[in-house]
Amino acid sequence: MERDEIIMRYSRVFPKAARVTYAPIVGVRAENAKVWDIEGREYIDFLSNAAVQNVGHNNPRVVNAVKEQADRLIHFTFIYGFPVEPLLLAEKLAEISPIENPKISFGLSGSDANDGAIKFARAYTGRRHILSYLRSYYGATYGAMSVTGLELEVRSIAGELSEVHYIPYPNCYRCPFGKEPRTCHMECVEYLKEKFEGEVYAEGTAALFAEPIQGDAGMVVPPEGYFKKIKRILDEHGILLVVDEVQSGLGRTGKWFAIEHFGVTPDIITLAKPLGGGLPISAIIGRAEIMDSLPPLGHTFTLSGNPVASRAALAVIEEIEEKDLLRRAKKLGKYTKKRLEKMKEEHELIGDVRGLGLMLGVDLVKDRDTKERAYEEARKVVWRAYELGLVLAFLQGNVLRIQPPLTIEEDVLEEGLNRLEQAIADVEEGKVPDDVLSKVQGW
Ligand code: PMP
Repeated sequence: MERDEIIMRYSRVFPKAARVTYAPIVGVRAENAKVWDIEGREYIDFLSNAAVQNVGHNNPRVVNAVKEQADRLIHFTFIYGFPVEPLLLAEKLAEISPIENPKISFGLSGSDANDGAIKFARAYTGRRHILSYLRSYYGATYGAMSVTGLELEVRSIAGELSEVHYIPYPNCYRCPFGKEPRTCHMECVEYLKEKFEGEVYAEGTAALFAEPIQGDAGMVVPPEGYFKKIKRILDEHGILLVVDEVQSGLGRTGKWFAIEHFGVTPDIITLAKPLGGGLPISAIIGRAEIMDSLPPLGHTFTLSGNPVASRAALAVIEEIEEKDLLRRAKKLGKYTKKRLEKMKEEHELIGDVRGLGLMLGVDLVKDRDTKERAYEEARKVVWRAYELGLVLAFLQGNVLRIQPPLTIEEDVLEEGLNRLEQAIADVEEGKVPDDVLSKVQGW
């Protein structure tokens, strides 16, 4: 089959709601931080399938675990009885979790994990209201979509859960309160307090949903001390903190869970993307008494705890431990950030470089003073990167997403950064024509 024929057939069978495409790559093979298309072209991957490939594409330990398990037992539902593999995985997750002696519920996607978290939080507290953040992303199912704060067209068209309220996320580059770091008095914390005095009835609120670093909002890192202050307020009112580690978890930021950077223990953690190394599996990890609050069949799926996905997840965790990938994420992240900051000195298009570990964002702006988002330029950079052999994407229309596998080799990372800088320079020099704008979909 030819590339163009495949792409044409795609639009015949897949609705536009089911796709977000940045480049016309027909991927047929992948290994660690490289992917190859149907024509044999090689690409360096800075996207990791949207933060899935923390231990690299087709990691041999994951591949072997999957093959061995598939040969023996592909599935054995909780309806039959007691498969061993999800048990071992749950015990391992409990060991690495910052929540002591948690209980764990398995699903298939970040979206369903967040849906479940809404149910557990409501059941435990007996309250219905949920607080969330503007520009947050929690998923595509009804519950997860409803607590999502991003302004997605689908939400108003399809309808959503009521009893959800949004507060601004602490964003020190684009402060929603118009502050600079030197004039900041954590107005974002005050806002929550005020919210409880006005619009939202604290005693009716079950949980606050938070990404410890906002991913799809453009890799926004909260300031030191923010989550500690927020957790104190939530505790005063008996409100649970649900932390979504779907994108930031399992080593991406240099710790097992990104919330650990902020010295706060959440009540519930949701996990998905990198957990199965590419196989569909998600987890809700919560305090035991919270997780015991739903009745039988309160949150489970026929394929929950699938043995093949569970073995893949165990292999992912073993790989992170044995290859010391938390340290590697920290080290490579520091190096990458330094290089990106150096690029910022030379390229006016870059307004901000931010993130932790290998969860980094490069905010492209038309003007460094106004911080106007450089939407068209971001599209062109992503397209040019694709032409140069680099898989890249943007968030919020203008923030380049830098999330390579934690296992990326140093020389491959270096070459990827060179290609990125080349793409930025080519756009700045007007070498990328306007007609590429219609070729990149993105969001
Ligand atoms: N939470 C966060 C923070 C995410 O980034 C995403 C995916 N972008 C999700 C939840 C949804 O995960 P999934 O696509 O696996 O349903």
